[in-house]
Parts: sequence; structure tokens; C-alpha cells
Amino acid sequence: KTPTEPAPIRRLDPSVVNRIAAGEVIQRPASALKELLENSLDAGATNINVTVKDGGLKLIQISDNGHGIRFEDLPLLCERHTTSKLREYDDLRSISTLGFRGEALASMSFVAHLSVITMTAGIAHGYKVSYKDGAMEGEARPCAAVKGTQLMVENLFYNVAARKKAFKNPGEEYGRIVDVISRYAVHKIGTSFSCKKHGDTRADVHTMVTNSRVDAIKSVYGATVARDLIAVSASSDNESHSVFSMEGFISSANYSAKKTVMILFINDRLVECAPLRKAIEVVYATVVPKAAKPFLYFSIVMPAAHVDVNVHPTKKEVSFLHQDNLVDTIQRAVEAKLLDSNTTRTYYTQT
Ligand code: ADP
Ligand code: MG
Repeated sequence: KTPTEPAPIRRLDPSVVNRIAAGEVIQRPASALKELLENSLDAGATNINVTVKDGGLKLIQISDNGHGIRFEDLPLLCERHTTSKLREYDDLRSISTLGFRGEALASMSFVAHLSVITMTAGIAHGYKVSYKDGAMEGEARPCAAVKGTQLMVENLFYNVAARKKAFKNPGEEYGRIVDVISRYAVHKIGTSFSCKKHGDTRADVHTMVTNSRVDAIKSVYGATVARDLIAVSASSDNESHSVFSMEGFISSANYSAKKTVMILFINDRLVECAPLRKAIEVVYATVVPKAAKPFLYFSIVMPAAHVDVNVHPTKKEVSFLHQDNLVDTIQRAVEAKLLDSNTTRTYYTQT
């Protein structure tokens, strides 16, 4: 029935606030993994290994060889809005780290069991500590370790029944985790990555440090894609200032997949851009058979001040200046390359 009298307004308990907020940052196992991976990269890791149990719902374990976490910072690690990456609001204009909100680990600690082993350089041993609801559980204990950090997230959403139920298919969740790591592995060629299911000996992603993007694509997405890649680049200037520059690889007209894979990094952030994806798919649709979808990798660099990285807690979308110009310019660059590759193919088949 419709209420006739207003219910009293009450202040929510912080634990309720935090659990609600956590669900916004950590939507599924793959979003937890993405945050963890980005923390490892922010820590300068050149080697990152991931182990997953039950699509990440039972366990996500990540180890890196980054700079580690200082002993004195451990009590703050999982508190909300605590970060080593941002100080002033204006720093956001030039932020170069992937993280800055200081919310990811806190969020995980509100909806999962979190434990950490970490060691910084120049210290004889590491520390082990676990967290719950934003706070350390007991003291950090000295332990044997190597420089870097290992984080374990266990029983994700154990206290969010509705969310937990939404993940009926651990295989699908694992696929999303592999997808995030695959994308980073293609972009961050100076870092080696591995990802496997707990108990498996074979890794599903396994890359070495390389200086060849094509090699990285080959080891993650396979030789079939790598064989048909075309390098593409584009840039645009506007009244004497640079709008953007793009370097990438696109599949040729000979290649055909069931689904488009578009790996997009803007200023080294893994993001989505629906208008760009559509514009490129349109180009392919005119050149290759309709059911044949492309593989695309674009790395776009633009002035940091032109990008708003703070559109959403998951940072999955960014908004940036001159989007139409960028989409048009890249579309034309892709079209030119693709038509060119198509003529080449026709030429070969005719002779
Ligand atoms: P943010 O990345 O936005 O700062 P997080 O909650 O993801 O927030 O992490 C909080 C802090 O914990 C980071 O600012 C960083 O100092 C530290 N940290 C997290 N993960 C790692 C890691 N793998 N190696 C070193 N430091 C880390
Ligand atoms: Mg982070």
C-alpha cells in the first residue's frame, strides 16, 4: 500500500555504506582482478602471476615483483580512501598511475577475505597480514618472502548473497578474468604475465617480456591472428596542440573471427569506447563478409588534461575531448590500411 506518513530518515551504519559502495567497485571477480592487476603494474611489477579457483569466487591470488608495501602502511592498506598515488584533487589532471581512488582493496575487504604477503627492498623478511571490513585482523607477522606482493582474495561476496547467486557459471567468470589479463599482456609487453586455474599445471595466459607487440599478440591470441595483422597509426593536431596519437594493429581482410576483439588503451588505461568500436566495425562490414569480425588493438595517447579518468568507480570508461575527431581520424586510417590489404590479396589471387 502507499505510505501516508513519511518514514523517518536515518543515517546508515558505516558497515552498510561500505558494503553497498563495495559492490559498485567490485562488480564481479574480473573487476577485482583488474584492480589487483593495476595495483601490481602501479607498483612497477615486471612479472605477474595469477591463480584462480572457481572463477575467482573461491580464490583470486596474484603475485607480483613490484616495490611492495611498507610495514608502516599496512594498517591503512584496506581502509577506504587511502592511497599512495594521489594527494590533491588537481593531481588528477596529470595522474599517471592506474589507481588513485584508494577504494579497491577496501572494497574487497568488505565483501571477501583478503590476505597479503609483502616485502619491500632492503628488508630481511616480509610481512603477512589479513584484513576484514577495512581493518587489519591482528598484527602483521614477519614471514619469509621475496620482494613484491602477493594478494589473496577468498570467498568473494560471501556476505552478499544476491550478488553471489548471480554468478552461476564459474567458467564464464574465469573467461572474463583471462580476458582482462590477455588485454594487459598485449599492451604491457615489458611485463610477463601468467594466469591459470588452481591445480592446473598449464597456464591459460603465459607471456614473456618481449619488445614485439606482434609476439605478445601471438602468445595470447594465437598464431592465426598474429599472421594477419597490419600495423596502423594515426594522429591529429589542432591549432598547434596535439589532440591524440594512435599506434595499433588490426586484422587484415583475410582474418575472420566470430566476435570483434577490440583492445583499447587510452594513456595506458584499459577502457571501452563504443563509438570507436562501431565506427571500425562499419569499415570492416564493407570490406569483409558480414559475419567476419576483426581483431583490433589501439593504443591512444593524448594530453592527460584532456581525459577525465574519473567517470566511474571501475574506470572502465573515460571521457575525453575531441572524441568525434578522434573516431573519424582512426576510422579513416583503418579504412585506408584495410582497403590496401584487400587489394593486395586480390592482386595475389589473380596472378
Ligand atoms: P589505489 O590503487 O587507488 O591507490 P587500492 O585500494 O587499489 O587504491 O590500493 C591502496 C594502496 O595499496 C595503493 O595506493 C598502494 O600504495 C598499495 N598497494 C596495493 N596493491 C599493491 C601492490 N601490489 N604492490 C604495492 N603496493 C600496493
Ligand atoms: Mg588500485
